[in-house]
Amino acid sequence: FWSNVQKGPEDPILGVSIAFNKDTSPSKINLGVGAYRDENGKPYVLECVKKADKKIFEAGVDHEYAPIVGLASFNSLSVALALGEDCKAIKDKKIAVIQTLSGTGALRVAAEFLARFYPGKTAYVPNPTWGNHNTIFADSGVAVKSYAYYNPQNCGLNFDGMYNDINAAPNGSIILLHACAHNPTGVDPSIAQWKKISQLCKDKQHFVLFDFAYQGFASGSPEKDAEPVRLFVADGHQIGLCQSFAKNFGLYGQRIGAFSLITGTPEEALAVESQLKILVRPMYSNPPIFGARVVSTILSNKELTEQWRTEVKGMADRIIGMRESLVKYLKQHGSTKDWSHITNQIGMFCYTGLTPEQVDRLASEFHIYLTRNGRISIAGINSKNVEYLAKAIHAVTK
Ligand code: PMP
Repeated sequence: FWSNVQKGPEDPILGVSIAFNKDTSPSKINLGVGAYRDENGKPYVLECVKKADKKIFEAGVDHEYAPIVGLASFNSLSVALALGEDCKAIKDKKIAVIQTLSGTGALRVAAEFLARFYPGKTAYVPNPTWGNHNTIFADSGVAVKSYAYYNPQNCGLNFDGMYNDINAAPNGSIILLHACAHNPTGVDPSIAQWKKISQLCKDKQHFVLFDFAYQGFASGSPEKDAEPVRLFVADGHQIGLCQSFAKNFGLYGQRIGAFSLITGTPEEALAVESQLKILVRPMYSNPPIFGARVVSTILSNKELTEQWRTEVKGMADRIIGMRESLVKYLKQHGSTKDWSHITNQIGMFCYTGLTPEQVDRLASEFHIYLTRNGRISIAGINSKNVEYLAKAIHAVTK
């Protein structure tokens, strides 16, 4: 049957982990991994999650199916966390929301919905973007193009390029925006720049889809990270919103996320919800319950929510601290290059500006592994390996 099936290429990030695992050096570092690691390089289970686990266990819950749209309490808490409890669209019941299989699932449901109900439109994603964006749209039958985003000259934002490309897209296009902690570059627009983009998207009647995979994880404040999304909503955009609770709650493998769509009226919201259900039913029927229960238990409990805020800030602060530490050691070991982009960028990832050849040298001479685009996951750095990393980066860049 399958002799015509050819072996496909491996995911480049997987390749980094395979090379890292094969290396027997005690000083090896894996900077490819897209998941938070603590000071000891270990995965981190949040204390608030452990407490929620216990509460759920003690409540003696059953394991019946969730409704197609997922757990109702999770859905409303999730949207309120992103848009703010006093968001008018929430009060006016104009938002259709469904629980999804983490951020990826939210994006996939969004793309499937757009293919069916907003046909013939092209989705514009930043260049570069999280690789899965391109594939998700393409596999859902939505054409994808990119808009300028990254400026390799200063490892920052190419705002003019971004603005011009969004302006040049046909009216009513789909514009995908990373709400905060852009992956892979770590480069985010300023609030003043977000305001200009919002106005432009209004003038162009674009449909704006936010990918919000890092709320709280970028700055340490869930409210601050939500500012761009809330700004667009306040400006009257009927945005689509894809949320993930993988990073900020450390619930990676639980696959917990949400897709919501702001509509014009409560009736429209109900109609959209009904169609989302029709889309989801033949894909996976209904979502898993455990992650939804964990997030819902935390966000409906004042004490646990406070603890979550402290813990997500702890993760964000550790990452910000490691950026500062890396720059400090680079200077200390004699690098005279401008590394300010390392601290200007935000979130788990940093686009270092290292060339593919320099990345190869880091692996072969120093046992340090990252993708060849020069992206490092700051989560892989800790106080024990940061100086070694700085020395190695200096050695390959001088
Ligand atoms: N969007 C972006 C920008 C991401 O970086 C990620 C995680 N790497 C996701 C979405 C989705 O991740 P998940 O499906 O694990 O929530």
